Amino acid sequence: MSFQTDTIHAGVAPDKAYGAIMTPIYQSSTFVFEDIGKHKGFDYTRSGNPTRKALEDSIAALEGCSCAVAVTTGMAAIATVMHLFNAGDEIICTNDCYGGTARLMKTIQEHFEIRVHFISLRDSAGIEAYINEKTRAIWIETPSNPLLNLVDIEAVTTLSRKHGLLSIVDNTFLSPYNQQPFRLGADIVVHSTTKYLNGHSDVVGGAVLSNSSQIDEKLKYLVNTLGTCAQPFDCWLVLRGIKTLVPRMKEHERNAMAVARFLDSHPKVARVFYPGLETHPQHELAKKQQRGFGGMVSFELDGGIGEVNRVLKGTKLFALAESLGGVESLIEHPATMSHASMGAEHRAEVGITDGVIRLSVGIEDPDDLICDLALALTPHSRG
Ligand SMILES: *Cc1c(COP(=O)(O)O)cnc(C)c1O
Repeated sequence: MSFQTDTIHAGVAPDKAYGAIMTPIYQSSTFVFEDIGKHKGFDYTRSGNPTRKALEDSIAALEGCSCAVAVTTGMAAIATVMHLFNAGDEIICTNDCYGGTARLMKTIQEHFEIRVHFISLRDSAGIEAYINEKTRAIWIETPSNPLLNLVDIEAVTTLSRKHGLLSIVDNTFLSPYNQQPFRLGADIVVHSTTKYLNGHSDVVGGAVLSNSSQIDEKLKYLVNTLGTCAQPFDCWLVLRGIKTLVPRMKEHERNAMAVARFLDSHPKVARVFYPGLETHPQHELAKKQQRGFGGMVSFELDGGIGEVNRVLKGTKLFALAESLGGVESLIEHPATMSHASMGAEHRAEVGITDGVIRLSVGIEDPDDLICDLALALTPHSRG
């Protein structure tokens, strides 16, 4: 089946009880046994739930892999994966990752004797210097948040395989519609389903996916053991969101491209970060490994923090809020919001200056979005 057909049908079948075409919300903690040792496939919701299974089968089909586990949040997905490692192990992590990922990795490093090397993965030749006999995995996030830098997934997974390491890709920013890491050699993919997969800013959720029976079993064991499993109602919402993933992603991209081009030509904007622009240093790589460029656009403003604050408060359609991937447009300030937890030193190292503003471009009419930004950038023009 094509990807678009899978978004509608994968994992979903008419309900056996009444033929409901939509997957019911099995809001039940436990399931009745038919006989000793015999049940209908589910015994307790932490271990498994039919609504959650429908979502897991759907996401696994979209990423083209054998197994998905749906968990409570994107951070729960990352925390679950971190339990695959042992004291003494070392992990290499892209240095411009999501702020929460950096915070979790630093916490783990302090408490569990797992060493994390935050390095740039943009030049795969520089990675080998950090690989030793204790290294277990390379953590990739591409495009990066908020600077939209790319990592060549295939180059890194090839290196990873050569050294017997796991390649883990956070695919939240593009969704499986725009990027399919398993096709590029990844072993594990994580998602914050809070973002594009759900797409409506009404749930927090996460998923971990794998394509090897050995890792599949470990992930299922961990979700049941740690209790990181997603709730049935949340799974139902994400499943509902996925049905419109393709048309939403197309609209997000069309609008993001229009917004990026507008900002690129604006005198008050020093730099625009969007892989869809021909001037993006990794535009060719984006075309090679991605189906599309996504809906996230960042830019650096000329002028001080006062100017930044004025723009952040000046938009009317773009709401000042963290998160991303919903149908409505959002604007935020990474240095004090999404990436505050990263710390000033780590931010400076990866180039997240106080002048950087991040947009999650929604699916409103693009002319209205551009008008809103134009007025925020040049307030005296607002009537
Ligand atoms: C939001 C996000 C996360 C964390 O997900 P939550 O659902 O907020 O816990 C992880 N990675 C990336 C790239 C994200 O954007």
